[in-house]
Amino acid sequence: MNIIKLTRVLVLFFIALNPLYSQSKVVWATADKCGFDPMHAARTFDALGHAWGYGYDTLQIDLQKWTQSPFAQIDSIGASTLNRALWMLTITDSTAAIVPRIRISIHARTHPGEVQSTWVTNELINQLLGDSGLARLLRRNCIFNILPMYNPDGVELGFARGNANGIDIESNWYAAQSEQEVLMLRQFFKGKMNTANPIEIALNMHSAYACKRYFVFHDAAGTSTEYEELERDFVDKIHNQWPEEIEPWSYMITWTNGTPLRYPESWFWLNHGAAVMALTYEDKNCDTAADFDRVANALLTGIGEYLGLQSEPTSVTENRSISAANTVVRLYPNPVAAGGIFQVAISSNKEMDAMYLFDILGRRVGSFMRPGREAAFRLPNLPAGKYFLTTIFKNSRVVTPITILQN
Ligand SMILES: [Zn+2]
Repeated sequence: MNIIKLTRVLVLFFIALNPLYSQSKVVWATADKCGFDPMHAARTFDALGHAWGYGYDTLQIDLQKWTQSPFAQIDSIGASTLNRALWMLTITDSTAAIVPRIRISIHARTHPGEVQSTWVTNELINQLLGDSGLARLLRRNCIFNILPMYNPDGVELGFARGNANGIDIESNWYAAQSEQEVLMLRQFFKGKMNTANPIEIALNMHSAYACKRYFVFHDAAGTSTEYEELERDFVDKIHNQWPEEIEPWSYMITWTNGTPLRYPESWFWLNHGAAVMALTYEDKNCDTAADFDRVANALLTGIGEYLGLQSEPTSVTENRSISAANTVVRLYPNPVAAGGIFQVAISSNKEMDAMYLFDILGRRVGSFMRPGREAAFRLPNLPAGKYFLTTIFKNSRVVTPITILQN
């Protein structure tokens, strides 16, 4: 082992032993969802070489290629600690007239040693820019904001986990002084949450040293029972695309002791509650990692199903089906004034058992019992904002966003 390799192994050991990591071992699953293994990381670096096989220059070449597509646009959300641009690719079909669009944010390569998160994300981009029916459906209905390399400095320096300052920007979101990359991404999220098309799904792409593919599930103790149900549905929809390889939602359950003040997902939950499905996806970080195209297809198909995009969107409101893909709940007017009357109509011959209204924190703020197939209701006098109407059928439910205006 030459001196450079030896130094790298020692640095990785030091990182593993530093107080942040020791402290995090109290709740292992919560603190290190990727299962970082410094020896494994050192071996992988030796095998893949500079930048773990995919560096900043390669990204810039790929960005050039992607922006040839009429559906892609490139921008920077700011600069890293060492002043590298944090490139953001936006994918949507701006010729389609569907409003509102569903914004989906995806960021990858927080941990430089998890290059598989790049391979999956690049496949997501390639497929979204492709010619399939799914790609067209998603481009028409959604806006994808994809940050392929959130930690370019760490990637170029050959670090396994940290940024240029050696800080883990995954768990730095509530530090007294957040790192530059965290500040930039948080500012981006904040800006988008204040638009007519706020982020509704936020995926945080990593890869796991345990050599498994899974989502990091947040327990109701750190979220809410309503949110847990949405999370289960989201993960199920993707797991079902490839059940032999993508673990079920119960594989890694975290936040069992409350909301940790650490992660981007914590930030989304504490600021926007159930309005954003914010989850970490872990691909395989090992020699047998492969089939990134199949993973990307499972993710995109699952997202399409979760959003209920199979049915043509109506002009009245977009429909979010949880397990009743063919049932459309029409709601009008939407937006509706607080205390005002709104009308609900169901497209299928199912009868509604009940309807519940939730605020963005997942708290139930209204209920309407046994409404049948079509009915009018008076809203309670609620503060203006975004809410979710959950319509319960015998074996399924449909969630529809509703905006309540000041009376
Ligand atoms: Zn990671």
